[in-house]
Amino acid sequence: SGYQKVLEENRKLYNQVQDLKGNIRVYCRVRPFLGGKLNRLSTVDHIEEGKITIITPSKYGKEGRKSFNFNKVFGPSASQEEVFADMQPLVRSVLDGYNVCIFAYGQTGSGKTYTMSGPEELTEESLGVNYRALSDLFYLSELRKDTFCYDVSVQMIEIYNEQVRDLLVMDGLNKRLGIHNSSQKGINVPDANIVPVSSTSDVINLMNLGQTNRAVSSTAMNDRSSRSHSCLTVHVQGRDLTSGTILRGCMHLVDLAGSERVNKSEVTGDRLKEAQHINRSLSALGDVVSSLAQKNAHVPYRNSKLTQLLQDSLGGQAKTLMFVHISPEHEAIGETISTLKFAERVSTVELGAARVNK
Ligand code: ADP
Repeated sequence: SGYQKVLEENRKLYNQVQDLKGNIRVYCRVRPFLGGKLNRLSTVDHIEEGKITIITPSKYGKEGRKSFNFNKVFGPSASQEEVFADMQPLVRSVLDGYNVCIFAYGQTGSGKTYTMSGPEELTEESLGVNYRALSDLFYLSELRKDTFCYDVSVQMIEIYNEQVRDLLVMDGLNKRLGIHNSSQKGINVPDANIVPVSSTSDVINLMNLGQTNRAVSSTAMNDRSSRSHSCLTVHVQGRDLTSGTILRGCMHLVDLAGSERVNKSEVTGDRLKEAQHINRSLSALGDVVSSLAQKNAHVPYRNSKLTQLLQDSLGGQAKTLMFVHISPEHEAIGETISTLKFAERVSTVELGAARVNK
């Protein structure tokens, strides 16, 4: 059909763009000071399009400056809308059959959940990437409805201490929503519910359920949510109404556990075990992304639950966005530097630039 042609053209275009930019993108976002503290001194010296310069403390009392390059840097005044606008092509490519992973990385309190879901008191302006991505998918699939028929369904899981837990569980939910167990590609969690959705309000209800389920377990262990990875997976299946061809794409929206390092002398028992699991899984993710960025032959997917589960959506034609978050406070400078170093390790910005110059 005519639309099929357009789609193929789009695919070609995407592939060209991918060849230029690579499949891995790294963005950085600096959150504003909280509680209206506008005039405090930030560790961020300045921000340019794809570059952030921070003020580093020095042993000798003199401040230093260090710059890091990214595909994009968002300053403290960037709106949720602006942030999403830059991710929109990535989200839209899911409808064309691509697999996409979006990770929010950073220390606890740096704004990961704000970016992905929004603040606790949601307003239309403050809606996060999750909501915007899904409503955009619904909007686009409606536009294409004469040529394509799309089915959208979601999963929500949590990984805590390398154990996977389904967040979309509730007595009677299965019957009401017509849930079936997942056998689609993407995340394969045995018995994790995959729920068909047809509107943004369906999605909001499910996210609330997921949040509630997550919170229930956190009361036992104080603020567990910052110490587990949560992953919203959106499965999209599109049938070309003329040819009957089926396209499958999926998108994983991952709010990672806080990346802060804990002082081994200060924590013991469960907290130490948690910290070790988080460390190991975040560095396993870093290893996977950086070996994809360097186009290594061997990609070490098997070193963590998260990378194992996302294996089909990391590498190959799949697209990855690592979105790192930093806090502007001076107290956070140690974590800020380690976050920026992590980002530098997984980034292809330098490589990309070198290739263009050749
Ligand atoms: P994390 O998920 O990394 O632990 P949060 O997203 O919970 O961090 O952010 C910590 C606090 O900062 C929350 O109260 C959140 O609403 C606020 N916050 C984070 N980013 C922004 C932002 N860009 N604009 C306004 N408030 C923000």
